[in-house]
Amino acid sequence: TASTHASNAEVIAHDVDHVFHSWSAQAKLSPIAIRRGNGCTVEDFEGREYLDLSSMLVNVNIGHQHPRVIEAIQRQAAELATVAPANANPARARAAELILSHAPEGFNKVFFTNGGADANENAIRLARLHTGRDKVLSQYRSYHGNTGAAIVATGDWRRVPNEYATGHVHFFGPYAYRSEFWSSDEQQEGERALQHLERVIQSEGPESIAAILLETIPGTAGIIVPPAAYLPGVRALADKYGIMLILDEVMAGFGRAGEWFAFDAFDVKPDLITFAKGVNSGYVPLGGVVISEEIAAQFDERVFPGGLTYSGHPLACASAVASMEAMADEGIIENAHRVGAEVIGPGLRELAERFEVIGEVRGLGVFWAVEFVADAQTREPISEEFMGQLKNAMLERGALPFTSANRLHFVPPCVITDEEARRGLRTLADALAAVAAG
Ligand code: PLP
Repeated sequence: TASTHASNAEVIAHDVDHVFHSWSAQAKLSPIAIRRGNGCTVEDFEGREYLDLSSMLVNVNIGHQHPRVIEAIQRQAAELATVAPANANPARARAAELILSHAPEGFNKVFFTNGGADANENAIRLARLHTGRDKVLSQYRSYHGNTGAAIVATGDWRRVPNEYATGHVHFFGPYAYRSEFWSSDEQQEGERALQHLERVIQSEGPESIAAILLETIPGTAGIIVPPAAYLPGVRALADKYGIMLILDEVMAGFGRAGEWFAFDAFDVKPDLITFAKGVNSGYVPLGGVVISEEIAAQFDERVFPGGLTYSGHPLACASAVASMEAMADEGIIENAHRVGAEVIGPGLRELAERFEVIGEVRGLGVFWAVEFVADAQTREPISEEFMGQLKNAMLERGALPFTSANRLHFVPPCVITDEEARRGLRTLADALAAVAAG
């Protein structure tokens, strides 16, 4: 059994002996042992604290061990720890009602899943059944989950060894810093990305396309905030060609972008919304699809051919209710918005002035990417070796970083205080200085 008196080394050895890890070569694991957490801090088995600048896997939006969420799980567990999806339970209904209260007009139902991948699976299924069409368009720079269709909808390398589903077509979204369209500014990048998307739609045959699936702000791919006109432009194309627009809010939603839904920061309304992660900060696995009235009505008489044993699990739903209530009562979304605008954004931009290796800083809320380059002119991505050293330098200084390719994602919980954010920025500055000094 897991002993609270074990050393880090014992916990890690025990883990790697028995646990098969995600996205890893199993002989090359180096996990950090984590015993407990509180707010933005986690602690290992030897009393060492880390500032969690990763929110674990960019999901602990409300911070670690929020007392209201823990208490709600305990209360629900004492009353009813599980229930079949066909039964009615107030935790599930209340969670759906609260999620819908943050969605735009015109959404009236929530289908619950276990996480983000199966949320996207079911959104794709709904769009296909609703339109009677097959194809799904999504971006190369995206991540939508690791199950059958979701992994093939994924644009990055995780798709390639899993390409067994059909009907998935990829396109390039806007990314002004590394434009595929020879654009010279954000606005032009947005316009040209829309022209490209329309050409892809026309070339694939609009009558064959069920859905465009997009992360509102591509997250793992680099927190690539789209130009203001892009998402409204995608909406217009979807309307023009009778295509459903699915916005994947799994990472960007529930406070990460300083809004309930990241698309609240843009002038766009989807047909289907997928969520997971921040809805209850992963205290119990939960995801789902928010469904428009029009699509939901399709299934008033017709059977929806999809389901999950744990759809709307009461522990997950009770934790989501408490989490959303606490977020509203404690102004947690507003905090994320403000800390991003007042502390993290300006702080990272200041670091970009000081360190030549920083090519670009972008983001909003508690959703920021720092992109490192070997050469400021050519924008050649910095080496893997540099990123490894930076990650270790952060860990040595008591911060858990999130790194991916040539980027560090500065993605703390939404509850981060100004003082903690400044501490995170100082840690990054010190780590960069140490790596630069060799
Ligand atoms: N969609 C996005 C945007 C994500 O970031 C992720 C996970 O990182 C997923 C979907 C998949 O979610 P899950 O890992 O809960 O299946």
